[in-house]
Parts: sequence; structure tokens; C-alpha cells
Amino acid sequence: MASRNFITHGRKIVAIGRNFSEHAKELGNAVPKAPFFFLKPTSSYISNLQPIEVPAGCEVHHEVELGVVIGKDGRDIPASEAHKHIAGYTLALDMTARNLQDVAKKAGLPWSAAKGYDTFTPVGELIPKEQIPDTNNVDLKLTIDGITKQNGNTKDMIFKVPMLIEYVSSIMKLQEGDVILTGTPAGVGPIKPGETVACELGTEGKILSQLKFPVIERPKKV
Ligand code: MG
Repeated sequence: MASRNFITHGRKIVAIGRNFSEHAKELGNAVPKAPFFFLKPTSSYISNLQPIEVPAGCEVHHEVELGVVIGKDGRDIPASEAHKHIAGYTLALDMTARNLQDVAKKAGLPWSAAKGYDTFTPVGELIPKEQIPDTNNVDLKLTIDGITKQNGNTKDMIFKVPMLIEYVSSIMKLQEGDVILTGTPAGVGPIKPGETVACELGTEGKILSQLKFPVIERPKKV
């Protein structure tokens, strides 16, 4: 089943930008009036305990996010039907080479490089949807070497999960195993080789996913 094995069988990662107003503001961006997204390659996935690589010359930022794993194909899915297309959720990091993204933003160029390096989408296992009855009440936490950097809740999302599914599927078909990254709360910042990034997803005081990723320099070409 592609949704259970979304890391190996998923076909796209759709990442929503600026979906938490405090995060939009911390990067000096306007709070959006409509959702926007970019695509990340599925080759950027890594699993728990695998290393996040920092490429030479990149300032790599962490963004902890709720990932929605699609369970059933659909085009033009109305928000009211969105739940039927969700297999479950995953805890995800949308790693970003912030300095490359800043250059791309100023030049009006795509973010593919800034967002698409190998290892830039660390994810956990599928969390079956029954375990998260309310996607508007998911706690997301990220620490670096034990120090809390991000600590948010999806209640602060500007555009909610059903609306995101409606919007994205009005443009491109959502396919089983696809993942929508729903945006990050405030507190993003750089990671450095030698550090350990830990993150946690929970709801109503119950922890559903905990992940840990060592940070290394991207190995040189051989
Ligand atoms: Mg993001």
C-alpha cells in the first residue's frame, strides 16, 4: 500500500509555505491571503536516525511540520470530502537552505535547490488517521541538542488541512502516497554538523511520534 510505504512509493511532496502567521512574520514575509506551495523531490526523504546533510556553503534551517499522507487518488476534492483521501499523518521536517532561498526569492527564481537537497525531508512512519481526530490540535516540537527551538500547535494554521487538500487538488491530482507538508510554526533557525535534531508530534498530551536526526556535513564527491 503506497500510503503505508509513502517514503519508497510516494510520488510527490507538496509543501505549503507561510501557513503560520508568526513564522511568515519572522522571515519578513506578508501573511498570505491564499495558500501557496512548492514541490520537493521524494529523493529528499530520510527516516529516523539517518543523518541530515549540510551542503558546503548552505545555511540549513529546520522547519517542523505536520505531514498529511494521501490514501486515495483525487482531483478537485472538495474540503468536505478531504477526510476520505487521507490515510494518515507523519511528523516531518522541511529542511531549507535559507541562504539559497533568500537569493532565489530576490531573483524571482524557484526554490527547488533550496528545498530539494538529498536528506532535506526527514520523516517518521505513517500515523493512522484515527490517532489524530482533530488536525487543528496537533502539537509540534523541535529541539536541537535538547534546547527547544520550535513549539507550536496546528490551531495556529492559517489554511486548515481540508482546505489545503481542496486547493492543491484543484491544480494537480493527489495520489496515494503523496505527502502534503502543512507549514511550520515560528522558531526556525540553523542547524550545524555535530548537532542532533529531535522532534515530536502529539495531540491532547499524547505523544504519537518522536524522531531524532544527527547532523553531518554533506560528504564530498568521490
Ligand atoms: Mg516548510
